[in-house]
Formats: sequence, structure tokens, C-alpha cells
Amino acid sequence: MAKPQFQAPKGTRDLLPPDTRRWRAVVEVFADTAERAGYGQVISPMFEDVGVFLRLGESTEVVTKEMFAFEDKDPKSPQQLVLRPELTASICRAYAQHRPVTPWKVWYEGPQFRYEKPQAGRYRQFTQVGVELLGADDPAADVEVIALAWRFYESLGLQQVSLLLNSLGDELCRPVYLEALRSFLVSRIDDLSEASQATLDRNPLRVLDSKREQDQAVIAAAPVMVDFLTDETAAHFAAVRSGLDSLGIAYEISPRLVRGLDYYARTTFEFASTALDSAQNAVGGGGRYDRLVEDLGGPATPGVGFALGIDRILMACDAEGVFAPPPSPVDVFIVDMIDGTHATIVTDELRRAGIGAERSFGGRSVKAQMKVADRSGARFAVIIGDDEVAADAVTLRDLTGGEQELVARSALATNLVRKLQETPRS
Ligand code: AMP
Repeated sequence: MAKPQFQAPKGTRDLLPPDTRRWRAVVEVFADTAERAGYGQVISPMFEDVGVFLRLGESTEVVTKEMFAFEDKDPKSPQQLVLRPELTASICRAYAQHRPVTPWKVWYEGPQFRYEKPQAGRYRQFTQVGVELLGADDPAADVEVIALAWRFYESLGLQQVSLLLNSLGDELCRPVYLEALRSFLVSRIDDLSEASQATLDRNPLRVLDSKREQDQAVIAAAPVMVDFLTDETAAHFAAVRSGLDSLGIAYEISPRLVRGLDYYARTTFEFASTALDSAQNAVGGGGRYDRLVEDLGGPATPGVGFALGIDRILMACDAEGVFAPPPSPVDVFIVDMIDGTHATIVTDELRRAGIGAERSFGGRSVKAQMKVADRSGARFAVIIGDDEVAADAVTLRDLTGGEQELVARSALATNLVRKLQETPRS
């Protein structure tokens, strides 16, 4: 087959049926988990003023290199717009704009855009689901959001997800730590890779994120934030840990977990799938961002939340062999052996009765129609030929067992509803 002229842009992909059905089912499990915990959905624009995202950290790659930016076309108010690279900042912008009552508990789902170097599990357009809980400083809020993500992974059947936990301190203890870290790294600068030497200038914390072999010995010896926490921040961190203990949620303290975005303070966490290749094994992450709303012009409001990558979660499901695609919702396939007009009427009637019904087009042979019926995932075929019309009936064929019977035309819908209820899909 000749290669078509156009392909999906680099770093993006088309999701096609039936994979999209599984995709939607994952999002529905998440929506259910969040809604049942009292979180409501926010749908915000896919593009925002660039300023909304500058607080992610001017030294983070997401801001310096990865934003898809464009000018507003209005010459009177030129504005730099960007496709959102994440949703926490958009949610905080929306909070500052609308000032809902707190605690404001919201969830979201949608595509994010980052100009990254594409590889397996790393795309330029990818989908995240997440929650944000604004207006609660309580460590129980941190525990609640972590538990929500954890139970969501569990509902999908994932068993090989581990939780990494850290505290990044607050505005009192972080500067002290950063100074200690900077002095240490400067004292070992000759042992660091060139890339990390450059990072050190901009943000010493980010050096801890380096995966380069050459940096590992220095990173292992570097001071860690948890040793610098103020009493209050340490107490918050201890409360989060004991909350997780009380829920039986296992975690590993990961003192070098810094995460890619600069707005985090105090609790930070990441979920890694041990079933995935370590380069792209992060299936989610989050933490506290107590200053973000204020920085975006809103009232001082603490917040905690997470974002999980759907693309990678499905890779993890594949790797663990869990969360099979849901069965086709087509219950019945109408095989019209006459001219298709019966199929038009019967599909409409059955669909209105809440039954999944499909048909074929273009006057295809019975054999061809039966083949499509088998492929459709339908459990029954309704066959209509001259004999059936003469008897004011249809032939109802069970596509699993092969038995068939003549059913009065007027009783078809009720008959099918009963049969489908009696033997629900497994
Ligand atoms: P972040 O917003 O960077 O904290 O990422 C949260 C989660 O989104 C990660 O743990 C991944 O599961 C997912 N993610 C981030 N970047 C990408 C990407 N480029 N492609 C696919 N998934 C991503």
C-alpha cells in the first residue's frame, strides 16, 4: 500500500475503534471514582494565556522548550496563547476567576500538549485525568487524593503500581535546603555532567532529576529535603504518612523525588508502574501547590491534586494483562434479505427500546451480512426474508449457540429485552 500523503503529526497518534472503547471505559472508571467522592468535573479551554503556565517554573523544560505557542489574531490585543501543557494551572486560574466556595473538589480529563522528543509512552499530545482539591490545608486532603488515585488503579486491576512519596518543604525551609544543595553541588561540580552543570545554574533541585549515569554518585551523596523540614512541615508529612498507613496504602519515601513542575511544596508523590520499562514508567504524579492560586491573582488558597497519564495507564494494563476492552454494546444484527427497508425500521424500533442494533448497507448477500453480524459482537441476528414477512414474523438466531426460532414481529422487542436480561453479557 502506498504511503498516504499525510500522517498524524510527529508525537501524536490516532486512536481508533475498538481501542477507543477501552479508552473511554478507563476514563469512565476514573469519572466514577471521582464523582462518588464528591468531585465535580471542570472542562476548561485547551489554550490559555501563556502567563497561566509561567509559574510551572521558568527553569522547567515544560515552560522553556515544550510549549506550543501562538499569537492571538486580534491586532488590538496581541496575546501570547499556548496549548495547555497540564491542567493544574488552568484549574487554579479558573478558581481565581470564579471564586467557588471551598473546599473546591474537581476532576478533569483531556489532552495536554508538550513539544517533547517522542518515544514509546511519551507523546506531544497525551491525555491526563486528575483531581484538584482547593482550600484545604489538612494532611487528610493529601491522603484523600493519593487514596483516590490508588483505588482507581486498583479498580482497573493494576497490581504493580508503586507509590513514591516525598516532602519538598515550604517557603521557610526550602530556601535553606536549596542553599545547602547548591553549595554541595558546586563543591562537586567537576563530577557532574555538562548538562547538569548548566541545570545547576538555573535550578539546583532539578539536578536531582538527572537520569545521566555520570551524575548518580553526586546525587546519591547530596543533602535531602526531608532532613531540612521545619517542625510544622515535618508534622504535616508525618500525618500524611500515618494516614496512608491507616489505609494500608504502601509507599516508599523517595527523598530525591522532585517532579518536573516548580509549583509543588510539601507533599509530592509519583506513581510508577513496575510492569513498564523504567524510562516511561510514571503513570501519574501530583502534590501540594499552596501558592499557585495566589500567584495567579486569586486569594491565598492551598491546593493538592494529581494528574495521571491515560496513555501510560493503558500500557501498564497491557503489560499486566488487565482491564480487557469492554464487550461490544451491539446486541442484535439485522439481516434483511429483501431490500434493506425492513432493516431500517427494525433497527430504529429496537434502538428506541434500548437494544443495541446494527445492520449492513448496500444489499449485500445473506452470507456477507451474517459474517458482519458475527464480527459485530452481536449476540443475536434478526433475519428477515420473504417467508418471515408473509408470516408477519422474524427469525431470531442466537449467534453463540446457533439455535433459531420464529418470533412474531410485534413481540420482537419485548422478546429480545427479556432474552438479553436473562443472560447478561459476562
Ligand atoms: P506531569 O504533568 O508531568 O506531572 O505528568 C503526570 C503524568 O502524565 C505522568 O506521570 C505521565 O503518566 C503522564 N505524562 C506526562 N507527560 C507525558 C507525555 N509526554 N506522554 C504521555 N504521558 C505523559
